Formats: sequence, C-alpha cells, structure tokens
Amino acid sequence: MSQNLYSLLSSRFPADMSRDAFRSPGGVRLSYAEFEADTARTAAALRAARVQPGDRVAMQVEKSIEAVVIYLATLRIGAVFLPLNAAYTPSEVQYFLDDAEPAIFIQDAQGFVAGARDLAPDPWIEPRGADDLASIIYTSGTTGRSKGAMLTHGALAANALALHDAWGFTPDDVLLHALPIFHVHGLFVALHCAFLSGCPMVWLNRFEEAAVLEALSGATVMMGVPTFYTRLLAHPGLTREATAHMRLFISGSAPLLESAFEAFEARTGHRILERYGMSEAVIITTNPLEGERKPGSVGFPLPGVDLRIGGGEETGVIEIRGPSVFSGYWRMPEKTAEEFTADGFFITGDVGRRDPDGRLWISGRAKDLIISGGYNVYPKEVELVLDEQPGVRESAVIGVPHPDFGEGVVAVVEGQGDEAALVSALRSRLAGYKTPKRVVFVDSLPRNAMGKIQKALLRQTYAQIFS
Ligand code: ATP
Ligand code: MG
Repeated sequence: MSQNLYSLLSSRFPADMSRDAFRSPGGVRLSYAEFEADTARTAAALRAARVQPGDRVAMQVEKSIEAVVIYLATLRIGAVFLPLNAAYTPSEVQYFLDDAEPAIFIQDAQGFVAGARDLAPDPWIEPRGADDLASIIYTSGTTGRSKGAMLTHGALAANALALHDAWGFTPDDVLLHALPIFHVHGLFVALHCAFLSGCPMVWLNRFEEAAVLEALSGATVMMGVPTFYTRLLAHPGLTREATAHMRLFISGSAPLLESAFEAFEARTGHRILERYGMSEAVIITTNPLEGERKPGSVGFPLPGVDLRIGGGEETGVIEIRGPSVFSGYWRMPEKTAEEFTADGFFITGDVGRRDPDGRLWISGRAKDLIISGGYNVYPKEVELVLDEQPGVRESAVIGVPHPDFGEGVVAVVEGQGDEAALVSALRSRLAGYKTPKRVVFVDSLPRNAMGKIQKALLRQTYAQIFS
C-alpha cells in the first residue's frame, strides 16, 4: 500500500468538503474542496514543468495559503518539498540551491497556483514507500552552517499521528496559524494536526499581537514560539475573556521562560503546553494534555520515542531513536555518521536531564557549554538566576576567550540595570566560577525568525571583551 503522506492527510479531510480549510482576516475563506482542487491542479502544473518523483521542489516565498497548496501538490507527485526562509539573501539562497539541486525553484506562490487554475485537476497520487523522502528541511543554522535534514513520508506521518492524539485534536477544533511555514513548527506540526482532524485554520500571514488577539475568539488551539507569548503578555488585550474560547496554547522551537509561563497563567488561566522538537525529528517530547504541565520542562517522549541521556552522568547530551527521526543530512554522509551512535540513536546536541518518572528538562546546547578555569558552566543555570533579578527581561549567558580562564562567563541582558550591582547580587547565589565576569545590557537580544537567541553571534560580538 502506498505510504504517500498526502494520502494519509487527505483521507482525514472532512466528509463535508464544503467546510472551511482556511479563514483569513477580512472574511476570506477557502473550503477543503477548493483547497483540494487547487492542490490537484498545482500537481498538474508541477508535472507539466517536468518535475519527477524524488526531484526537489524548492520554494522561497512569503507565507500564504498558496504556499501550502504547493507543499501538498509536491507530496501528491512524490517530489521532495524544500522550503527556504523568506529572509535568506540571494547569496544564502544560492548555497541551498547548489546543495539541493532542485528541479524547480518557486519564488511566487500566488503566481504559480494561479497559473495552474487553467489546468485540469490531476487526481494522480504518486505511490510512495514509508522510506521515500518527502521533504528536506534546512536547520536554523544556530550552531553553524544549516544542514538539510531528510524527512521521509513515514517519519512525517508517524509524528503527525502521534501529535494529533497527544494534543487531542478533533474536527471541532480551529487552529490559529500565525507561524512561518519554512520550518517544521509551522509547516509540519501545525498543518498536519489541522489536516488530520479536518478542522479549519485561522490563517494569519504574520504574527501581529492585535490580529492574533482578535482571532483567538474564533479559535481553540494556538501554536507559537516563545516570543509570541512574551509579545502577547506585553499587550493589554491579553485577558481571561480574550482567551475564554481557547482550549490549548502550545509553545516550542526555543525555551519558554518560566516567568512567561507563570505570567500567562495569571493573566489568562491557561497553562501553556511546552514541547521540544527539531528539524531532525519534528516533535520529540511534550508536556501532557491531561496531567501536569511543569514550567521549564519539555515533558515526556512521544509514544515510540526512545530517549536517553548520553555520557553516563545525570546531565548530558540527549539521544533519541524513533519513528520520526530523520534519515540523514542531505549529501553529508560523514556528518550524518558522526551524529548517530553505533546503536542507532541520534545525538541531538541538546543537553538535558530526566526526572525519575521520565520527564525531560533541557539545560541548553552542548555547543553553548562554557568551560571556565576547567569548570563546566551550564548557561541555563546562570540565566535562571539572572532572569529573577529586577530589570532583567531575559538573558543569554555565553563563554568568550579569557586570558586566564580559557573562557570567561559573560551575561548579555535584555533590560536595564547596574553591572556591578547585578554581579554582586549573583555572587551570593552562584559559585564564583559561574558568576558572570561581565554583564552587558542591551535593548533586545538577537533572535532569528523562530525566536531563537543567536548565541554564536553574541560570542562574536563580545569576543574581545576580556582582551
Ligand atoms: P542548527 O542545528 O543549524 O544549529 P537549530 O538547532 O536551531 O540550528 P532547528 O532544528 O530549527 O535548528 O531547532 C531545533 C533546536 O531548537 C533544538 O535542538 C533545541 O535546541 C531548540 N528547541 C526546540 N524546542 C525547544 C524547547 N521547547 N526548549 C528548548 N529548546 C528547544
Ligand atoms: Mg540543531
């Protein structure tokens, strides 16, 4: 039997295809029937452009419903979807195009889908095996050059089904979609949950606080990156009444501050459900739908995921094995081999520890570990103390070259305050080698589109601070 992901998703579209698939501001609606027909015509257009099964379909466009149509059309014809961040510059894009060698590169999604409207819908769905590639997702490049994570039809299907169950999606849900769609979060996690339940999405092309607050009254679930939540918290319109219709708020892609979790609960009564994922495995762990959602924890592995802490200590690098783990980095066999253990676990590069009941806590990335005077400093431990200090909105602790200690601990703080006072406040809470030797105040920490703090950039910026 064909394992084409499109067959699975479309088998769960609503029986009544006149139901909305997408609702956009201004009353624009697209039914499942219209959406399905658009994907069939766009599949015909891709085939007319001589895109073969297994070929890459690269796309760099602003977010739109048409971009989703192209994603599903690509699945239908058995080609490999390759979305690129709209913020990449032409020279950055060139690297991805040289690397992936796509058969087609789409830069105007509306134009491509509109051009296909004259074609007859092509009902053909290319048979695919579970191990055939469905997509290549380039990682965010937080720790180095982006790598193309190869995800199969089987991997995406397994994760989608697990999430749909874990988060209790039903046809009565309405998903508020304000995430970018060049990344696993907005593309796979969000879209697949909606399609598997045949529910509508409230579709916002970008995150804008007022528009999101307005949309909440017609939605039941929202998925966001942590900056969505901190931005909503800064808006007076975030209230219990404004969120009364919602059943679930989900956060991921970067750590959610415990202070944000608590403030959100105080304001709305909702406990944000945090989950942990990455391009290489989509979602790995999640806090429970029923049961306790603990601030600062990313919860438990999804069914079928084996998760362990490498290195033999309590805290160490998280290793995973399971149905959604990627099948390697595109055209990087050596890199791929390095990142898997002999017994087939993927070495995530994230550091964490587990409670006796299996609950996972992430303490940062292995590459961000600081070694100062021979001692290991986990940035998260210092950041948690810093974030409690008055005047500190959020902090990023990094190690930079230091003439005596190898690396010296530096805190970059979003907020305002006095360096000496903050250092002395920290000294009473942290061992000397963990206490930042310098604190720098900034208006805003550098982040990428997913709200991830760019520590590599901070290390470059402050590389000379001790010289
Ligand atoms: P690169 O691999 O290119 O350096 P990246 O790891 O940021 O970039 P992604 O695959 O987009 O690329 O992001 C996955 C990472 O995001 C995870 O490895 C983890 O570090 C982080 N992350 C995701 N969700 C969470 C979470 N809930 N808490 C903490 N970190 C998270
Ligand atoms: Mg990564």
